[in-house]
Amino acid sequence: MLDPALLRPGRFDRRVVVDRPDVKGRFEILKVHTHDKIPLAPDVDLEVIARGTPGFAGADLANLCNEAALLAARTSKKWVEMIDFENAKDKVYMGGERRSMVMSDEDKRDTAYHEAGHAVVAACIPGADPVHKVTIIPRGRALGVTWQLPERDKYSSTSEFMEGQIAIMMGGRVAEETFFNRLSTGAANDIERATTTARNMVCNYGMSEKLGPLSFGQGDHEIFLGRDISQRRDFSEDTARVIDAEVHDIVMRNYQRAKNIIEEKRDRLIAIAESLLVRETLDSKDVTLLMEGGTLPPKSNPTMPPQSSDIGGADPGYKPALNPA
Ligand code: ZN
Repeated sequence: MLDPALLRPGRFDRRVVVDRPDVKGRFEILKVHTHDKIPLAPDVDLEVIARGTPGFAGADLANLCNEAALLAARTSKKWVEMIDFENAKDKVYMGGERRSMVMSDEDKRDTAYHEAGHAVVAACIPGADPVHKVTIIPRGRALGVTWQLPERDKYSSTSEFMEGQIAIMMGGRVAEETFFNRLSTGAANDIERATTTARNMVCNYGMSEKLGPLSFGQGDHEIFLGRDISQRRDFSEDTARVIDAEVHDIVMRNYQRAKNIIEEKRDRLIAIAESLLVRETLDSKDVTLLMEGGTLPPKSNPTMPPQSSDIGGADPGYKPALNPA
């Protein structure tokens, strides 16, 4: 955030917008960060990694390469394998695992059903990004994560897609209600994001039928040192009331949609939640199989990747000591 005073005419003569890289850009960035520095196993395909990391910025990709090298070094591998990149991706995206955190069985169950709620709704909404991974291993500040990954780079969203996202966010809360008949604080972040999305749809993207294609700015992009902090509102009290009603309406109709889906797919949700309690993490293949009514093969001896403790990420200056073959 720059002081508006710095941006007065004559100070800077141009602005260069650096967008997040597309798949080709990510491939080139990955090449830069692995070239010379990191010995790669023959199974590593940078193009696959680039395709699987939409939304990652250059710094995320640098971090990804560093993390992958650290994971490989920790098991004294002589090179970095594809699985190390896969695990590093989870860590960069979702935060480090907090295996040290002790969760009661009850908390685990709550989390498993909550995440299964997200996953089931995500799997049932046409056009939603596919579920990439569901986990009940605590990461960062979250007790569990359902990670959707778009199939390709996306540059804009439709109202349909955004409403779907809201329904998916509501899935966690609905599952808690349905199976435990109680409300928990675990859904706070989902609720906040759903409300923000709905408000943006109404106020910024003109997606409300009642209000039409108008922008109802909150004037919050020029906040500097407390000035403007009392929000400038350039619409009337009446409009404000309509906005609130519209936001409420969008969230509630998608809450209902999530509820209908979960009622209908109740047994699938139980299957996913119970599998999560056994395996802790399910990938997209597992979720698809369970959604189709299948059962997962018995749990083979899981080779959990070594994970660092919960504090902080990798030291970016660290050069992993790997001995190339
Ligand atoms: Zn959630």
